[in-house]
Amino acid sequence: MSKIRVLPDSVARKIAAGEVIERPASVVKELIENSLDAGAQRIVVEIAQGGRARIAVTDDGEGIAREDAVVAFQPHATSKIRDDRDLCGISTLGFRGEALPSIAAVADVELWTCQREADVGTHVLLRAGKPVVVEDAGAPAGCRIEVRDLFNGTPARRKFLKAPPTEASHVAQLVGRFALARPEIGFELRQDARAAVTFPPAGRRERIRRVLGAEIEEEMREVELEAPVRVSGFVSHPHVALASPRSILFFINGRLVRDRLLQHALMAAYATLVPRGRYPAAVLLLGVPPEEVDVNVHPMKLEVRFRNGQAVHEAIGRAVRDALRTRAASTEAARVGEGEPVYSPASIAPDRSAAPAARALRLLPAPAVGRSMPLPLEAPGPFSSLRVVGQVFDGYLVCEGEGELWLIDQHAAHERVAFERLRAARQRGRVERQAMLIPQPVEVAAGEAELLTGAADELAACGLEVEPFGDRTLLVRTVPALFPATSIAPLLRALTADLAEVERSHALEARSDALLATIACHSVVRVGQKLGETEMRALLTAMDEIESNSNCPHGRPVARRMTRAELERRFGR
Ligand code: ADP
Ligand code: MG
Repeated sequence: MSKIRVLPDSVARKIAAGEVIERPASVVKELIENSLDAGAQRIVVEIAQGGRARIAVTDDGEGIAREDAVVAFQPHATSKIRDDRDLCGISTLGFRGEALPSIAAVADVELWTCQREADVGTHVLLRAGKPVVVEDAGAPAGCRIEVRDLFNGTPARRKFLKAPPTEASHVAQLVGRFALARPEIGFELRQDARAAVTFPPAGRRERIRRVLGAEIEEEMREVELEAPVRVSGFVSHPHVALASPRSILFFINGRLVRDRLLQHALMAAYATLVPRGRYPAAVLLLGVPPEEVDVNVHPMKLEVRFRNGQAVHEAIGRAVRDALRTRAASTEAARVGEGEPVYSPASIAPDRSAAPAARALRLLPAPAVGRSMPLPLEAPGPFSSLRVVGQVFDGYLVCEGEGELWLIDQHAAHERVAFERLRAARQRGRVERQAMLIPQPVEVAAGEAELLTGAADELAACGLEVEPFGDRTLLVRTVPALFPATSIAPLLRALTADLAEVERSHALEARSDALLATIACHSVVRVGQKLGETEMRALLTAMDEIESNSNCPHGRPVARRMTRAELERRFGR
C-alpha cells in the first residue's frame, strides 16, 4: 500500500504561505513593498485589532490591469522578473511572486485597483485563495488591498499571534522602518480609533527625528562614502549607548535587511567607543550593484549574501569611523546630558600656555611626537579651555567650564589619549618602539604562549615584539615607545584574553584596536595617583588633540558634566 501522496493544492499553499506570512506585520511588509515597487508616492496602512481583524494598504502607484488582477494572486506570478537570469540583478523589492498568493491562502483578500489611464477600475474578492468576485469598480488610481481575518483557516498560526497591541507595535515599527528607508514617500498609519501617525515627505534627517525621536536625531552624524561601496545615512555619536540594537537599521538598495556581517562591521567601528552590551543608533544605506548581492536567500527577503563581504565590511567600518572622527564630533563629544556646549570657537582665545606643560607629565609625551592631528590654532578645544579646580579621590579632576561643572575620570581620559596616539601611529605605519635593554623573559600559562606568538606580527605592529623562548616563556624585545607599559606580565595576560575573545575574522582593525586598547590601559595613570597642576593641564590639552575623546577605549565615559542650572536645581534654588 503506498504511503506517499501529493498534497492538495490548498494545503501546499498554506505551507508555502507559512514561510512568508508569519504575523500581521509580514502582510504589511509585503504590501508596502508592492506599493513601493509600483512607484507609489503615498502609502496608507490601516490595521484593526493589531491586524488580525483587518489590514489595508492603499497606494497611489501604477495599479494593476484588469487582465492581471486575478493572475497576480497565483503562485509565482510576478511582473518583476522573467527568467532566472533576472535573479542576478534584482532592483525591485519583490520578485518571488509569492506575497499575494500567500496572503490569499491565509486570509480573505479584496483588491480595488485602477491604472492611471484606464476608464474603469477593478474589484476582486478572494476567499480561500479563489476569486469569487471580479467586477468593474470605480477606484482611484493605484491599489487598495484589504486583508481580513488573518489565519482564520490556519488555527496553528493564529494561536501564535500575540495580543493586538503587540502585533500593532510590530506593524508600527515596520512602517517606521520603511519611512526611514524612503523619506521622500509619504506614509500614514491608522490603528483602530487612534489618531493617525503621519510621515509627510521629508529629508532623511527629518525622518529620523520623526521615527527615532529628536534625542537620537540630534546625536546623529552623517555618513558618506562613495567607493568601493556606497554607504550613506547616519550614525549616532558614541555617547548614545542604547540597551538594544533596535535602532540599528541597514538598507541595501532600499531594502531593509537583517545581516550579521553588516551589524558586525558597525559594532567593530564602535568597538572602543560604546561599552559592551550597548548599542548605537544607525540608519545606514548601502548602494550595492544588484549583481553583487544575492537577495534570494530567504523567503521574507530579509537576509542577503554579498559577493564580496569583506569589501562591504571594510566600507562600513571606514564610513562609520570617518563620520565619528570629525573634529566637530569630538568637540561635542563631552556634552553629556543637558546644557549648552561649553565651547564657542569665536569667543575664546587660544590657550597656548598649556602646550609646554604637556612635556611635564612624565607619562604624556610631547605633543609633537604623538599628536594624531594638527591642533587647530583658532581655538582651544573643550577640555583645554576648562579651569582646573582640583583633583578628588586621587582619580578625578574637578573642572569649571562655561556655566558647567566637569568631572573627569583621569584614567579613562589618559587611556583614551594613549589609545588614540598609538592608533594614529599604527595607521601611519609604525608604532615607535623602545628596545628593552635586556630582552625580558615573561612566563605565561600553557596555551597563552601559543596565542601570543601566533599573533606576533599583530603585536609587533603595536610596538610589542615578542618571541617564543622555551615552552611557556616569551621573550619581550621591545615595548611601545610612546607608552611603555608599567609591567609586562599583566599586559601579556590581558592581551591573551583579547586574542582569545576577538575572533580572527574580517575585523582585523577591530582586533588590533582591542590590542591597542589593552596596551593603552596598561600604560597610563591609574586611579589612585595624585596629579599635579601641570599634569592635569597636560592631560586636558592632550584630550583636545586626539580625534575622539568622549569615552575611554573600553567605552566608559571620560567626563560627566552638570550645568549650573542643574546644580542650582539640586540645591532647590
Ligand atoms: P512580487 O512582488 O514578488 O512580484 P507579489 O505576489 O507581491 O509578487 O505581487 C504579484 C504582482 O502583483 C506584482 O509583480 C505586481 O505586478 C502586482 N502588484 C502587487 N501589488 C501591487 C500594487 N500595490 N500596485 C501595482 N501592482 C501590484
Ligand atoms: Mg511583492
